[in-house]
Amino acid sequence: MKTIGMIGGMSWESSLEYYRIVNEGIKTRLGGLHSAKCLMYSVDFAEVEALQHTGQWDAAGRMLVEAAEALQKGGADFIVICTNTMHISADMVQAAVPLPLLHIADATAERVQASGIRRIGLLGTRFTMEKDFYKGRLTDKFGLEVSIPDAPQREIIHRIIYEELVLGIIRPESRQQYLEIMADMVAKGAEGIILGCTEIGLLVSQAESAVPLFDTTRIHAEAAVEWAIR
Ligand code: GLU
Repeated sequence: MKTIGMIGGMSWESSLEYYRIVNEGIKTRLGGLHSAKCLMYSVDFAEVEALQHTGQWDAAGRMLVEAAEALQKGGADFIVICTNTMHISADMVQAAVPLPLLHIADATAERVQASGIRRIGLLGTRFTMEKDFYKGRLTDKFGLEVSIPDAPQREIIHRIIYEELVLGIIRPESRQQYLEIMADMVAKGAEGIILGCTEIGLLVSQAESAVPLFDTTRIHAEAAVEWAIR
């Protein structure tokens, strides 16, 4: 089994899910007492968030490069960045560290493609919804047609992530706001929705949605299990 090198802490609320899912996945695949070989370098999210909201993406990227280098020294065989937003620095990490990087958008897009869906809605931080590093990859590399909520809706999605979800706060009224925005995306043609922020799966579930949901946390962690045992 390979050793998974996880860059976590963005936020630790979702890193917990990664840890649980990779271990459950290895147990399911290998049986018995098997569990995942993994390392997690968990950053201080306050430092990352401050750099994100002041546009200091290079400095935030350098933080991830340091984490990846530490994971490599610790014996990791491949790198998993446990968040969507900071995949903005995925190329920088990949260029700095000679380990393979399991890209969250690739793992997710492969699942979307396998489902036969082409018109997909994307929820995430403002950075993930608006910048090209994520959407562009889904469209250019996988031929998906990606839609995002309108500007006031994006503001709501983003605010709830940073003021509630990354702090472990789950509010029914926020869930309701998410579900209304998701229903609007479906009404405008989305055949499925990517939960493109690793904490959104803590707020909404498949049972509440009229269309298939693609939870990036679960998909990414399950892909890490496959990489670990292949
Ligand atoms: N975990 C979130 C994501 O998947 C948001 C927090 C962050 O900015 O890293 O994008």
